[in-house]
Amino acid sequence: MIYLDNAATTKIYKKAQDARTYAEDEVFANSSSLHSFGLKSSNLLRESREIVASIIRSNPDEIYFTKGATEANNIAISSMSGENNIAITSSIEHSSVYDSFNNYPYKDIIYLKNDRYGFVDLDDLKEKLSKDVKLVSIIYANNEIGTIQDIRKISDIVKSFDKNILIHLDATQALGKISCDVGELKVDLMSFSAHKFHGPKGVGGLYVRKEILSKIKAVLHGGHQQVVSSGTDNHPAIYAMATALKEQIDADEFNYVNDLNQYMRTLIDNNISDYIFNTPSESYSPYILSIGFANIKSEVLLHMLEDNDIYVSSGSACSKGNNNRILEALDVDDKYSDGVIRFSFAGENTKEELEETVKVLKESIDEIRRVM
Ligand code: PMP
Repeated sequence: MIYLDNAATTKIYKKAQDARTYAEDEVFANSSSLHSFGLKSSNLLRESREIVASIIRSNPDEIYFTKGATEANNIAISSMSGENNIAITSSIEHSSVYDSFNNYPYKDIIYLKNDRYGFVDLDDLKEKLSKDVKLVSIIYANNEIGTIQDIRKISDIVKSFDKNILIHLDATQALGKISCDVGELKVDLMSFSAHKFHGPKGVGGLYVRKEILSKIKAVLHGGHQQVVSSGTDNHPAIYAMATALKEQIDADEFNYVNDLNQYMRTLIDNNISDYIFNTPSESYSPYILSIGFANIKSEVLLHMLEDNDIYVSSGSACSKGNNNRILEALDVDDKYSDGVIRFSFAGENTKEELEETVKVLKESIDEIRRVM
C-alpha cells in the first residue's frame, strides 16, 4: 500500500498506541476521582498538558483538551459571537471554521481577499479592521493546498489596531510539523488535533491564553472537568496524543518531507503534461502537494490509483463533493478545477513510493485523456 493521504489522517505511532494501552489497562480510573488511583490518571493528564505546553511554549494550564479540532474551532468561534460582533476570516478555512461562522450569531463575517495560492491580502486586513471586530480566525497551514500564512504579520497588524481583538489559529495541519510557538505567533487561541500527527482520532485541544479565559464559553455543558469542554476526560487518548506529538517533533522530518515534496514536483514535471500546482513554491507545508490535472475528473483518477493500492484525496476528505468553495476562492481555471488531487506525505513515505505513484498516475491520466 502507498498511503499519500496523511492530511486526512495519519497512522498512529506505535509509541502512542502503547501509551494509550498502558493508560487503558493500568491507569484507567476517572481522572476526577478523589482516590489515589484517580490521581494517577490526573497525573497522566498533567504530564500530557506539560508536553503539549512545552512544544507550543505556553503554560500547561492554558491547554484544554477537546474531541478534536472541530470542537476546538467551534468553541473559539462561538465564544466570540454576538449580535454586535464582527469576525474576520479567510475564504479558504476548513469547513469546521467556515460552518461554525454560519451557525453562531455574528453581525458580520468578513472574508479577506486572497491571491491564487490562498495568501490573505494584508492591506485588505488593515482596511477591514473596525471597532466591532472581535475575532480574527485564520488557518495556519491550509489542509487542501498547504499554504502557510504569515501569522505573525497578521497578529502585528491586528494587535496594533486593537489589542483586544482575539486571534484564533486553526493549527491542525501545522502542529508537530512547523513551529507553533504561541508567543512568537502572538495568538490568543489555537486549535489542534491528534490524528494529524500520528495520535489517536477523536482527541485534540485548544490553547487559550490565560488572560482571555473569561471570554471563552463551553460548547458542551454539564461536567466540571474542564472549563471549555466538559465531560469525563479521555485521558488514555490525551496521553497518547501528547506521546505522539513528542514523537513527531523528535522525528525531525521536515527536511526529509520537503525533499519528498520537491521530488514529487520534479517527477510530475518530467512525466505529466498540462497540470498546475495549487501548492505555492514558497511558504508551503511540505506535507501537502495539490495538483490540478487538465481534462481529468479527480474521482476517476483517485479510483484508478486506488485500484493500484495508492491512496490520495481529491481536494480534501472533509469536503467530499463540496470542495469548490476553496477552489473557487483560489480562482482555479475551470480546465484544472475538476482534476485536483491532494497528495499528502508523512515521514514514513519514500521516494520509491513516489516513483511508483507517478508511474501509475501517468498511465491513468493518459488513459483518461485518450478516451475523452
Ligand atoms: N482544521 C483543519 C485544517 C483540518 O485539516 C481538520 C481535519 N481535516 C480539522 C480542522 C478538523 O479536525 P478534527 O478531525 O480533529 O475534527
